Amino acid sequence: MTSYPNSVTIDLSALQHNLNQVKHLVGAGPRIMGVVKSDAYGHGMAPVARALREFGADCLGVAQLGEALELREAGIGGPIVILSGIQTREDAREVVDKDLTPVIYRLAMAQVIAEEGARREKRIPVQIKVDTGMGRLGIPHRDVGIFLNDVGAYGPLDIEGLVSHLSSADEAEKGFTRTQIKFFHEAVKAGRSMGWDLPFNSLANSAGIMNHRDSCFDMVRPGIMLYGGLPSPEFQSPVVLKPVMGFKGQVLHMRNLPEGTAVSYGRTYITRGPQKIAVLSAGYGAGLPRRLSNKGMVLIGGKKVEIIGKVCMNLTMASLEGVTDALPGDEVVFLGDQGAETIRGDDMAFWAETISYEVFCSIGNGNPRQYLK
Ligand SMILES: *Cc1c(COP(=O)(O)O)cnc(C)c1O
Repeated sequence: MTSYPNSVTIDLSALQHNLNQVKHLVGAGPRIMGVVKSDAYGHGMAPVARALREFGADCLGVAQLGEALELREAGIGGPIVILSGIQTREDAREVVDKDLTPVIYRLAMAQVIAEEGARREKRIPVQIKVDTGMGRLGIPHRDVGIFLNDVGAYGPLDIEGLVSHLSSADEAEKGFTRTQIKFFHEAVKAGRSMGWDLPFNSLANSAGIMNHRDSCFDMVRPGIMLYGGLPSPEFQSPVVLKPVMGFKGQVLHMRNLPEGTAVSYGRTYITRGPQKIAVLSAGYGAGLPRRLSNKGMVLIGGKKVEIIGKVCMNLTMASLEGVTDALPGDEVVFLGDQGAETIRGDDMAFWAETISYEVFCSIGNGNPRQYLK
C-alpha cells in the first residue's frame, strides 16, 4: 500500500449514515435492498455488502450471477437479488445451490429455474421484472397478469414481487415518473387481484426515494445515495448524504514555469505569465476522468486549485496559484476534504460532464482501497 502514491479510502460510518437517511426517508414500511453491483460502485463489493447487512439492509442487489457467487464466497448470507437475471441452466443450478433470487423477464428462464428447483426439492424465490417505461429489461406492465399465471404453473417458484426501474426520477419534470408509478401500481394490483401475495414489490432507486415518496412500494433499491452521491450533479437532495469514497495522491514535483510555457500533451494550456505548477501522482490510469483536463480542481495545501493541461495516464498538472507552502510529497486530494475545502464525486462529475456513478466506479477500481470504520 505505501509503495503506491495514490489511495482510496472507504468510510463505512458514512455508508451507515447514508443508509440511515434512506430509512429516515422511506419510514418503517419498505424493506431496503442495498445495491452493490459493479463492485459496490467502486467501493468494494464484499466489505460494503457485509457492512450494509450489519447496518440493517434487508437484502442485497447485484447485476450478475458472478457477483452474487462472489458474495456467497465471501461468506455473506441473506437474500441476494440478481437484477439482470440469469441465462443458462447452469446459472439456474447455481441459483438453486446458493439460495439466490433471480429477476425473471422470460418464461423459458422461469421454467428452467423451476425444473432445477424441483430436482433439488427446493422452492426458489424469484422477482418478476416489469417494464413500466425504462425500455430495458422486463415484460410490458400490461402483461403481468398473464405472465404471473404462466410462471405460477411451473411449480416450485416463490414469486416475491414485481420489480421495475425508473428512468427519469432525478428530473425536475415529474410527469413521466408519475406515469411509471401509476403503471407499476396497476401491475401490482392486477397481480394481487389474481391471488398472488407479491410481498416485496420495488420500483424506487435513489432518485425515486429522494424525489418521489409514492414510488417506495414494499421495497426500495438505493444505490448511489448509499455512497453519498446524487443521481445527477444538479440534483437537490432532501437529506444530507456523506461521501463514502475519498481519493488522494501526492505532489510529485513543483515547477516555476516562465510565461508562454506549454503544459502537457497537445499544448492545450500555455502559461500567461510566470507560473508555479505542481505535478500530481494520478491520472486517468487511476480513474481520474480525462475530461477534467483544463476543467477540474484538486485540493493542495488546503486550497482548491485548477487542473491545467491534459490529464495524462499517471500524471496530472495543477496550478499552484494561491498556494504558498506546498512541498514535494505533500498530499493532494482529488475526492474528499482538505482544510476547509471539499471535493465531492458530484463536483468531479459536473466538471467532467458525467455522473458520480462513473467517477466512483473508475476511481474505486483503479486504486488500492482502505476501509475506515
Ligand atoms: C443500479 C440499480 C439501482 C440503484 O440505482 P441508483 O440510482 O444507484 O440508486 C436500482 N435498481 C436497479 C434495477 C438498478 O440497476
